[in-house]
This record gives sequence, structure tokens and C-alpha cells, in this order.
Amino acid sequence: MNSLPSNFEVNNSVPKNSALNLVNVTLEYPDGDGTLKALDGVSLKVRPGEFVSLIGPSGSGKSSLLAVAATLVRPSAGLVMIDGQDAGGLSDAGRTALRRDRIGIIFQQPNLLPSLTAVEQLVITQRLRGGGARAAAERAAGLLDLVGLGQAMAKRPHQLSGGQRQRVNIARALMGNPAVLLVDEPTAALDHHRSEAIVRLLRRVTDEFSVATVMVTHDTDFVPLTDAVAEMRDGRLSAPVTPAVAATRLG
Ligand code: ADP
Ligand code: MG
Repeated sequence: MNSLPSNFEVNNSVPKNSALNLVNVTLEYPDGDGTLKALDGVSLKVRPGEFVSLIGPSGSGKSSLLAVAATLVRPSAGLVMIDGQDAGGLSDAGRTALRRDRIGIIFQQPNLLPSLTAVEQLVITQRLRGGGARAAAERAAGLLDLVGLGQAMAKRPHQLSGGQRQRVNIARALMGNPAVLLVDEPTAALDHHRSEAIVRLLRRVTDEFSVATVMVTHDTDFVPLTDAVAEMRDGRLSAPVTPAVAATRLG
């Protein structure tokens, strides 16, 4: 696409490269006799440390965008670049490794294993990455402390509140030191107060870990905690704007 020679060097004053770069992504599903475009020419760049809100009506394609960005679903057309790597050029095994090592995924339901303690939930994912047990346990303890669960590391999911389970989920997503964090309606099951705490936590980890974060949210109250907001409609994505500009449009 780009005709720059491969040895072209940009100077350091140029803004950091995107950690997530979607270029003209289309995703089609069979729909009766025709096809449904869940994503229709979607482009989005998110830099390290940038936090983007994704809003839009139900069925507009928000979860589809996250699934494609997570390399869980291959797009029908377009480019998915994660931390400089073209996911489309990889084998299934290569995409699985890219996802495991560079992408953190946080869905509405934390999906924790019922029999494991909070710290074990984190350690097991790191063991699957091939890390050592001791380093994994230390990192897990540090992350649980960071998300405010330093006193709850030995608790199992049923002993935790909904907000605490979502914090474990966030800490787990950070275990592999991802470049990209994809978050789908993280507060859908929480009250307003707990929801705000979760979005503030996502803001903080985005900054501290320099991760590129995309959060789908139906709750525009928390959009001001993010850097930019983009809206999906019928599979098409608006250009991201600042929360202040979005507020004037949303009224
Ligand atoms: P949102 O998250 O904004 O509610 P989705 O991305 O889930 O929207 O869905 C976008 C469109 O794609 C919807 O019309 C939905 O019915 C359709 N869709 C999503 N997943 C599938 C699938 N696996 N097979 C067929 N259609 C799908
Ligand atoms: Mg959805």
C-alpha cells in the first residue's frame, strides 16, 4: 500500500506508531440470499497510551470490530496491524501467538474459572505463554495490587463482587504485557459508581502500561475519561473526535 522504501527512517519527533491499525476493514456475514456487512470499510488507528471509546447502537458492528482487531475473526477485506505486524499474513498458529502475546481482551462477563483463586487465574494464563512459575506469581501479585485486589488474591470468583471480578479480568488481560487492550462493555453488569471506577482503572492502566485501548461502551457518561470517541453506525465508523466535540454533537 505504502510505497516508502523499506529502509526509510522516520525521525524520532514523529508521533509513535499505532499499536492498533485497522485499514479499510470489511466483514461480511451470509444473510439469507445476500450478505450483511457487519463492518464496512472501517479504519482506525490507536497509539500506545491512547484510550478510545467506541459507541453506537446495538447491532452497529462494535463487537465485530473488536473481534477483528483481536484477530479472533478474519476480515473479508482490509488490513489488521497489531504492534506493527500484519495479522492477515500470519497462519492460524501465528495469529494465536500474536493474540496471546500482544493483545489483552476484556469482555463483559469476566469468564473466570470457578475453582481458581484470583492469583491463580492470572498465573495460569502466563504459564500457557511459557513463563516461569515464580515470575508469573510475582507479576500476578503486582497486578492484583495495582487493580486494588491486594487483599483478595486468595479469593475465588464466588467470593468476589461483580466489580472485583471485572478487576481480576483486567489484571489477567495485562499479564502478557499487551500492546493493545480490547474491552467490550466492561460495565454492563455494574452500577454507576462501580462502572466509573472500572473506567478510571482502564484509564490508569492505559497510561501506566502505554497500551492502546479500545472500549465499547453504551454509557456516554464515561467518554470524557477517554482521549477520543468514534461512533459505529451500520458497520461504518466515524472519524474519532475528542470527548468535548462529541458532547456537543450528542447534545
Ligand atoms: P454490536 O456489538 O454493535 O451490537 P455486532 O458487531 O455484534 O454489533 O453485530 C453487527 C451485525 O453483525 C449485526 O447485524 C449482527 O446480527 C451481525 N453478526 C454479528 N455476528 C454475527 C455472526 N457470527 N454471524 C452472522 N451475523 C453476525
Ligand atoms: Mg456488542
